[in-house]
Amino acid sequence: MRFDVVTLFPSLIEDALFHGITGRAIKENKLILKTWNPRDFTDSKTNRIDDRPYGGGPGMIMESEPLIRTIKAAKESSGSHHVVYMSPQGKSFNQKKAEEFLQYKNIILLSGRYEGIDERVIDNEVDEVSSVGDFIVSGGEIPALLIIDAVCRLEEGVLGDPNSAREDSFNNGLLEFPQYTRPDSNEFGDVPDVLLSGNHSEINLWRLKESLRRTLKLRPDLIEDRLLTNKEKDLISEIKSEENS
Ligand code: SAH
Repeated sequence: MRFDVVTLFPSLIEDALFHGITGRAIKENKLILKTWNPRDFTDSKTNRIDDRPYGGGPGMIMESEPLIRTIKAAKESSGSHHVVYMSPQGKSFNQKKAEEFLQYKNIILLSGRYEGIDERVIDNEVDEVSSVGDFIVSGGEIPALLIIDAVCRLEEGVLGDPNSAREDSFNNGLLEFPQYTRPDSNEFGDVPDVLLSGNHSEINLWRLKESLRRTLKLRPDLIEDRLLTNKEKDLISEIKSEENS
């Protein structure tokens, strides 16, 4: 997967990704990352890329011309034609969107700063607007990092065990079951017996049931949106009668 990130703070993007799973993916060329700084594409002698908003109001707006030149350069270099602007006004980014972005192989992420960007950039160059939540942060870099990390994990070979991505919360539409590691018993509690039993079909059934229990409790909306199998329906009735008794 290749990401070209248009940003006033390239090192914010690069430094953050050179660690852990994304760092290894970069070393192994499974994640290709390139940053593009609009300050390198301005005619201004002082490298200025922002100005006051027409009509008045607080703050500064990133100018259209340097941004559009930067995006065009990124498109030419990467061959990518999908430009995503990070903005609180966009559609919510989620696991499904991460899967969709993975299919592009090549995406340009545009990070805003200040009060945002000149609308003409969106009109002319942006294919999609993506938000990481109903709150405002100071720039599009942290939102872009979230997206790069989430998509990178789905790329084949990036996670040591291909099953880990499949088992993560949301990938199967449910929250992940509780996990434990050694020791099997200590002052903080005991690991459920079934996980020590070595019986994989029982373990899988327990995990499905606990995933359902947790999702029902913490994210009932996910259950409402789900086409439940008969087995899942049975487990949910069991959970409900357990919780009522
Ligand atoms: N005035 C703008 C917000 C500007 S915040 C508005 O009301 O819509 C500055 C930049 O941070 C934005 O251009 C955007 O790139 C980024 N940003 C802020 N919050 C974000 C969010 N929730 N999701 C994605 N990007 C965000």
